[in-house]
Amino acid sequence: LATEPVLTLAGLTVGYGGVPAVRDLDLSVRPGEIMALLGPNGAGKTTTLLAAVGALPAIAGTVQALGAPLDKRVERNARRGVTLVPDNRGVFHKLTVADNLRIARRKGGTDLADVFEYFPKLKGMQGQRCGNLSGGEQQMLALAKALLPSPKVLLIDELSMGLSPIAVKDLLPRLRLIADEQRMAVVLVEQHIDLALAIADSAMVLHHGRVALSGSAELLRSQRANVEAAYFGRV
Ligand code: ATP
Repeated sequence: LATEPVLTLAGLTVGYGGVPAVRDLDLSVRPGEIMALLGPNGAGKTTTLLAAVGALPAIAGTVQALGAPLDKRVERNARRGVTLVPDNRGVFHKLTVADNLRIARRKGGTDLADVFEYFPKLKGMQGQRCGNLSGGEQQMLALAKALLPSPKVLLIDELSMGLSPIAVKDLLPRLRLIADEQRMAVVLVEQHIDLALAIADSAMVLHHGRVALSGSAELLRSQRANVEAAYFGRV
């Protein structure tokens, strides 16, 4: 991956009401790269993603996206191509699949036909109300919606929240394909460590708001015991 990073967090300290939840974090992702952001509850994963889209201001350090500092307004950053898929999925339950997709479409964005190639199941479900979809189907829809504006950087908070391991095994390889084909950088917060490391290029383990371990996914796969130790703060 010889290209420049599309998202760079440098020396980032961020938190709530001036109290740091994440300290001195360095992170960067390049086009087509998937970084798995791992760590136990409360480690600071969501906080990191919120800072990366401009929803939380930095206490110290910087966030650069697509060659410029982040805007203070989340919508501006989204329009520039830095998008968060929140852990509540951002799907409107009372609307149909088709209406959910319609809302997310943008001029110059990804074609719906391309999105249906990644998620063929959704094509046949367009008339269904989203509240009737399974968790896995809703998560596919959340990803499909996020893809429509053609983001350059996608930050995904627990894609697999409440999903069966089978649904996660189905979903993550699709994300790999999307990142490759769309040259999209992805930061993926994920609880299924092995499934995440299997599709990621790089990974970072947070513990108590600090980086406990980071490196290529290949390295972390080969040091699985160290990942476990970092996760539980035994490093
Ligand atoms: P989880 O998997 O539980 O979401 P996480 O790694 O995403 O964990 P964060 O949600 O980033 O962790 O939380 C990091 C720290 O910040 C925790 O100590 C948490 O209690 C604290 N925190 C999170 N949200 C707030 C908030 N709105 N106000 C104050 N403190 C918060």
